Amino acid sequence: MSGVARDASSDHPVRDVAVVGAGPVGATLALALRGSDLDVVVADARAAGESIRADRTLALSHGARLVFERLGVWTPLAATRGAITPIVAIDVSQARGFGAVRLTAAEQGLPALGYVVSYRALQGVLDEALARARIDVRFGASVRAVRGSGDTATIDVAAPAEPLRARLAVVADGAASSVPAIARRRHDYRQVAIVAAVALDHPHGGVAYERFTAEGPVALLPERDHCALVWTCEPDAAAALIALPEPAFLASLAAHFGSRVRGFTGVGDRRSFPLALEVARNTTAQRVAVVGNAAQALHPIAGQGFNLGVRDAYDLARTIVETPREAIGSDAMLARYRARRALDRRAGIAFTHGLVQLFGNDRPWLRVPRGAGMMLLDAVPFAKRAFGRAMLFGMR
Ligand SMILES: Cc1cc2nc3c(=O)[nH]c(=O)nc-3n(C[C@H](O)[C@H](O)[C@H](O)COP(=O)(O)OP(=O)(O)OC[C@H]3O[C@@H](n4cnc5c(N)ncnc54)[C@H](O)[C@@H]3O)c2cc1C
Repeated sequence: MSGVARDASSDHPVRDVAVVGAGPVGATLALALRGSDLDVVVADARAAGESIRADRTLALSHGARLVFERLGVWTPLAATRGAITPIVAIDVSQARGFGAVRLTAAEQGLPALGYVVSYRALQGVLDEALARARIDVRFGASVRAVRGSGDTATIDVAAPAEPLRARLAVVADGAASSVPAIARRRHDYRQVAIVAAVALDHPHGGVAYERFTAEGPVALLPERDHCALVWTCEPDAAAALIALPEPAFLASLAAHFGSRVRGFTGVGDRRSFPLALEVARNTTAQRVAVVGNAAQALHPIAGQGFNLGVRDAYDLARTIVETPREAIGSDAMLARYRARRALDRRAGIAFTHGLVQLFGNDRPWLRVPRGAGMMLLDAVPFAKRAFGRAMLFGMR
């Protein structure tokens, strides 16, 4: 491949970019660099064709769809049976309080506000696109440590694989666990999210519901012929809810949604996971950049986390291709990446964390301002469109 340099101190060629993690965000970055004539290598611990986890639903914004269209992965994803479900309206309300807001795709002049996407289906389509683009992806390569020095980053991979060297290492492993130079700040919400598949006695019509209750927010997302539930509550309450017989669980869910959603007929695949905000204190270190969940893992309340990660990957790819090859991974390039992401990242984190503080509790004195805020948003078209745009495309 053109432009491959060799480091005198090592037999290993110095690649331009080494990506750690071929999850949705790492794969997006690698695909966005295709056609740039850069020498890119990707290492992922999972075996080829496998997913690291049970399927999960990702909330994809319209802006993320545009990125996937540009990368040529949207059409095959949309053609995969059951992979995506459009969200045509989002209904936000609070239990035991007034005020509600309904955002619609029609108001935004878009076919959909966002999409509920199967993680596994997206991963499969991205893996195929990486293979079609002949990107050098090393599956079964578990990265132990990423260290930057003056002019290269070294990526230590578990034996028997050889270490990798690159001008820039991009860490997209979901946790930044392999980069000692990147410290993460953790805020434990002391809550868990119950996720489950819920059946209704009527078609969901593409409407997503977000309901703020005394115990925490509950979201219902349209997915294929059912709804995906994300129910936030305290760990003890979650354990009790998961253990409930199906009719009792559905009755409890119906009580939370009140008149906003009726007709729950079944629930399957109940699981829970702890909720925390984890933020990398700095998204770069010497010769290293972090993206996606490795840079920030957010509460799922606003469906912002994955979309921020896609924008991290896309903006980093733009920054890399705008940089002369010799300067890739330099302090100046990394500073440009940080500057490009600063506003959107800060706003996405603050918006999500603020929403948890405002809506994720039962302080009765907050019900009135919450209700007033929702009423205003619903009544003022300009505010509604501006809010919708920020949710769909992020802050730039
Ligand atoms: C429990 C949980 C539930 C979630 N639920 C939702 C949800 O309902 N809706 C939603 O929109 N978002 C949800 N998210 C967030 C969403 O999963 C992430 O935003 C998204 O997966 C981020 O993609 P990523 O590529 O950054 O990381 P990941 O998807 O975590 O991918 C990381 C990749 O790196 C690889 N890897 C990891 N460690 C190494 C290593 N040492 N060496 C090499 N490769 C490695 C993995 O194999 C994987 O392929 C959830 C997150 C969590 C943790």
